[in-house]
This record gives sequence, C-alpha cells and structure tokens, in this order.
Amino acid sequence: MMDRPLLVKNLLWRAENVFGRHPIVSCREGAGDNEITYGELTAMVRRYAAVLAELGVVPGTRVGSLAWNTARHLAAYFAVPMLGAVLHTVNQRLPAEHLVHTIARAGDEVLLVDRDLLPIVERIREALPGVRHVVVFGPRPTDPVSGVLYMDELAAGVAEFDAFPELDERAPAGICFTSGTTGMPKGVVYSHRSTVLHALALCVAGGPEVRTDRSYLLATQMSHVNGWGLPHAAALQGARLVLPGPHPAPRDHLRAISTWHPSVLVGSPTVMAMIRDEYEHDPGGYDLSSVRRLWLGGQAPLAAQARWWGERGVEVTNGWGMTEASPTGTFSSVSDSQGRPLPLVEIRVVDPDGRELARDGRTPGELEIRSPWVTGSYLDGQSPESFREGWFRTGDVATISHDGQMAIRDRAKDMIKSGGEWISSIELENHLTQHPCVVEAAVIGVPDERWLERPAAWVVLAGEVTDDELREYVAASYPRYWAPDEFLRVEEIPKTSVGKLDKVAMRRRHAELLTETTR
Ligand code: AMP
Repeated sequence: MMDRPLLVKNLLWRAENVFGRHPIVSCREGAGDNEITYGELTAMVRRYAAVLAELGVVPGTRVGSLAWNTARHLAAYFAVPMLGAVLHTVNQRLPAEHLVHTIARAGDEVLLVDRDLLPIVERIREALPGVRHVVVFGPRPTDPVSGVLYMDELAAGVAEFDAFPELDERAPAGICFTSGTTGMPKGVVYSHRSTVLHALALCVAGGPEVRTDRSYLLATQMSHVNGWGLPHAAALQGARLVLPGPHPAPRDHLRAISTWHPSVLVGSPTVMAMIRDEYEHDPGGYDLSSVRRLWLGGQAPLAAQARWWGERGVEVTNGWGMTEASPTGTFSSVSDSQGRPLPLVEIRVVDPDGRELARDGRTPGELEIRSPWVTGSYLDGQSPESFREGWFRTGDVATISHDGQMAIRDRAKDMIKSGGEWISSIELENHLTQHPCVVEAAVIGVPDERWLERPAAWVVLAGEVTDDELREYVAASYPRYWAPDEFLRVEEIPKTSVGKLDKVAMRRRHAELLTETTR
C-alpha cells in the first residue's frame, strides 16, 4: 500500500475538489451575514498561509488564535497546520493569568486575533515577550492600533500559497489547553494524524455521522477542542457550517437558525438551555422547524431540556469527550447515556489499583481510554500520573455494559462520600432537574462533623417548593441519606469558562457562607 501520511491538507483537498461550490455561512455582527463556498475558503487559506510564511512562520512555529466562530478562524484552522505550524486555539474567556500561562507555555510567536478581542491581548502583551506579531483579522480600521498588523491588508498584497509541505503525520497540528477546573490549564497537542482520524470517525454511522446533506450550527466555541472536530469533519464531507460570529447571544443563535435553517445544533447543554429559554421568553417569529437534531457534549444533558426539544421532534444526541481525546470518545443517539465508543476508541473501567472491572453496566470505576486521538502525554510532560500502561485516566467514574454502553456516574473528585457511602452528585443533579420546579441544580459535598461529607444542592427554581418537599422527592427514588441537607436558592449556578458547573467556585462560596453564619 502507498505510505501516504494523514495530513490536515487532505481534509481541505476534498472540500476544494469535491465540494468547492458548497456554501459555508459565517454570520457577522452588524454588517449582515456573509456566505462563502468551500472553494472561496480554500482561496482564503492560501492567502493566509502566504501571509504567515512572510511573517516567518515555518514548520514547528506556534501560532495562537483568539477568535470567534467565523470563516476567518476556519481559514486559520487549515492555513496554520498546512504550513507545518501549530495552531493554539486560545480560550479568550480564561482569566489573564491563565491566558499568559497558556500562550507562554505553548510558545506562540504569532497571535491571530478578532478585532473585539484585541483589548484582551493588549492588556497582557508585555507579559508575552515571545509573541513577535499580533495580526488582527479583517480590514485596517480608520483608527488602527499601533504595533499590530491587519490580515486583510497583508492578504491583499500576497499571491496564493501553493507549496504546502509534505509533513510527517505525527507532526503537531494543534494545541488546546484543558479548562483548568482543577488548577492551571494543561496543554494537549494534536497531530495531523489524530486530527484526520478523529474527523473520519465523526463521519461514520454510530457517531455524530457528519454528512453532506446536513448543516450544522456550531454553537460550541472553535477555541474549545477544535470546535469538537466538526470544522475538520465538515470540510471532509462538504457539510454546510453556520458559524455564529462574534459574541453570540442566544438571540443571535435563534436568528441564525431562522435565517440559515441548520438541521443540527452543536453545543453544550448550557448553550442549548439558553437558546430554549430565550425562545420561550420571546418566540419573536423565530423558526426552529429546520432543526432535526441536537449534538450535545461537554456535560451531562439536562433531562428537562431533552424533553423540551423532544416535544418539538428534535432527536437529542450526546457525545462524551475531553480535551485530551480530541474530544470525542463515545457517542449516544439518546440523551440519557454517554453511548458507545467511536471506532478505534477503547474504553474500560478500573478500580483504584488499575484492575479492570466488570462490563456489567453496574460496577462503577474510573474510566480509562485509549485511541489514536487520545493524548499520550501533556505538554511538557505535566501530570504523568494521568497515564497508566498506555491508557489515559479520565478522572470520570463510569459504568460500561456488555455491549459497550458507557454511562458517566460522576467525576472522581465530585463523588461525595457520606458516612462511608458514595453519593453521586451527577445523579442527584439529573434527578433534581426532573422536578417540575427545578430549572438547574448542582450538588457539592460539604464538610460535616458526623458524616465527614454531606451533599448540598444549589438550585435555580421556576416555582414554589420547600426544602422538605425536595428532600422527599429525592428520597422517593434514592436512599434517604442521598437527600441534600441544604438547598441554596440561587439565580445562577457558577460556570467555568467553557460552561461547566464550577464546583471549585461553589465549594469556595459555600465555605465563605459557613464562616459568615458561624461568626
Ligand atoms: P473538557 O476537557 O473541558 O471537555 O472536559 C471533559 C470532561 O467533561 C469529561 O471528563 C467529563 O467529566 C465531562 N463531560 C464531557 N462530555 C460529557 C457528557 N456527554 N456527559 C457527561 N459528562 C461529560
């Protein structure tokens, strides 16, 4: 067989030569929506590559992006790795300290930045001596910022780049940092090979099955794990992408859905809940009738939400994944399990000594995973303890059934141990959100003199209900000791920069409340 390397440029080859006339939509703020084809995207990629080459970007150079979901960002997704350089998609929502840490650790020499995110870069630029160039996407404005370059101006002065190198498929193509719920973010490096294999796996039946005849609203950020790999898979299949542009608010998503009629909405349950709430609050002539499917991921789906979309004829699917796994490991065509591993993904559950546990759907253990698109180490060799005998230890607690159905039971560190018994915070959260008065719930373990730990629930309510009623509701389905001792009524539950329940912040706040009341 021919020993052809698996390279990111092969993904774009198909977009250009098979689907060159297929449209991609990039919804822009203010100036109206802009529809381009894959053929036009390829021309942008070639120009961006020429610009970057002129700026001294060579194989191995790290290029950071601080950008929204736009065609420009998509062009960078291809231009940077096709040059042999490495695209580090920076999560712009991180606190300044984490931004500096991740950009410095990645070793970014060039930053590609959306205009409205430039102030973030300006504030930290002094702390980033390794950054040689800051290039702002779009045209030079009438009031340009000194010390930065403007992409459209540079791209107008170059010829399309055509000498993309043949690379080793194991060469790095991208970097993303974990969201840092448990400390400083850790870097994960994706290779050309892992990116291509992951994109292929997203296209096959049994997974999200990215298809030419489906169109996708990408409501998850392209800075988060390669936009879940969808941009790469969509290029391979010539699927239409609807990219919501800068600062998308729920009503921007609704407008994009009504105008461009995507058949699949892709994003976290939190984003989808915001879209639903906005729609409920003000249906305002929005049209959801094109939507056939939700592709959720990043956290457990909310039962009430699945019901709401289900009533509208929408299929609710759910992918389990991690930054470390590119991200997709398993996929489920229903919302109440995490589903089966994608082809070429192996999963198992183990006890604390690393012994494999039964695949009986009942025995929980730490989930371990291995696959050509799961990282074998962190950048700079951080956290070696996360890897054991060729497997990556996810820190999730799961069960696996005989037919490969995996269900997340908890994050190892989110399990609550009360009087020697485990209580699953995730199960409690799922159960509480099925109560008609509870919109959202998050459960943490709080220190307790007698039981060592007890569950405390934070709830966002949509109706009148007492603590005792909620406790009875829990006790009707679970052992009584599972019923949270406290219910803290809040307007909003703290979330991390990527929209996960921020249990670290919740625990901190709980501890503060405790000292305030005992003082
Ligand atoms: P991140 O690297 O930020 O994507 O976070 C990965 C973690 O999110 C996983 O280890 C899980 O704890 C959680 N997660 C991701 N997808 C799901 C899902 N579909 N259901 C439940 N938890 C999930």
